[in-house]
Amino acid sequence: MKEDYYEILGVSKDASAAEIKKAYRKMALKYHPDKNPGDTKAEEMFKKSAEAYEVLGNQDKRAKYDRFGHQAFEGGGFGGGGMNMDDIFSQFGDIFGGGFGGGFSGFGGFGGGQRRTKGSNLRIRVSLNLEDIANGCEKKIKVKRKVQAPGTTYKTCSTCNGTGQVTRVTNTILGRMQTASPCGTCSGTGQILDHKPAGADAQGLTMKEETVSIKIPAGVEDGMQLKVAGKGNEAPGNGIPGDLLVAIEEKEHPTLQREGDNLHYDLYISFSEAALGTSKEIDTVTGKVRIKIEEGVQSGKILRLRGKGISSINGYGKGDLLVHVNVWTPKTLSREQKEFFERMADDENFRPNPEKSDKSFFEKVKDMFS
Ligand SMILES: [Zn+2]
Repeated sequence: MKEDYYEILGVSKDASAAEIKKAYRKMALKYHPDKNPGDTKAEEMFKKSAEAYEVLGNQDKRAKYDRFGHQAFEGGGFGGGGMNMDDIFSQFGDIFGGGFGGGFSGFGGFGGGQRRTKGSNLRIRVSLNLEDIANGCEKKIKVKRKVQAPGTTYKTCSTCNGTGQVTRVTNTILGRMQTASPCGTCSGTGQILDHKPAGADAQGLTMKEETVSIKIPAGVEDGMQLKVAGKGNEAPGNGIPGDLLVAIEEKEHPTLQREGDNLHYDLYISFSEAALGTSKEIDTVTGKVRIKIEEGVQSGKILRLRGKGISSINGYGKGDLLVHVNVWTPKTLSREQKEFFERMADDENFRPNPEKSDKSFFEKVKDMFS
């Protein structure tokens, strides 16, 4: 013969929902397995009261039970076998959630609202060259992080019953006041170390070197920080791992200068090359490229190679590569050369004659940013 649910909770048949809840709360605390380790009688009472509350705490189920008794639940759900511990603990968020002075924010680790601890973040620097940055890349980096040592187990803290908080009741002139503070035994995590293998630290953690693959999007800049979620240090128990914070360091390129998504390249050509025209190999982020220099090119001309810059970090296309033409004036001349240039001093072809299309340096710079 199954015991009467009202009798188990010690309430009358016409008890209010609040009374039933209160009665169950009292029993759950009294017979909690962490408070009565190894006491099978207490555990049985704990389960019985949970089963009773599962029915009486629910308006519909209680109505059925009042009409049909235990038969109402035979064969279905917990009818015969009773509830398992996880089911019981999952009730607790409801039971201890409100109305308990805020001290119990749910029984953590069992589906309640307990705040889980987070492992600490790890920080590393990744040094990238312009080629890496221009199109994005994937870097495999060795990281030393704390992980839960294999074989480590945790159990519910018995001081706070896994809530991570302890409540203290003080009598004041305004009445009873409840204050909640983090549990000192478990540092507020609700769990304490049960067993740890040799070599693990006091929290059951151990250092492990792991290779972490980091996806670097195109267009990152020096000083930017990327986050690889969950690749920081692990936390003990049911805590969640911290993050791996990756600081971007941009290596200087020997010939290319970056300006946002655009790149600049200084090209030096000789006097003769400027006059006769030439072709020159220049550096780009995807390798060397040969470009044609028209005869009669002016020093200061900017050649724009569209799309040869950096991919935008926002995904809006690519920057350009701007090639600045610098005509190198010889610093010394042989006697022959000197004579030649002296002869050309008054030559019409050597006389500067800028056309409207030969924009000044400042106009070119203005153009670049428009
Ligand atoms: Zn505790």
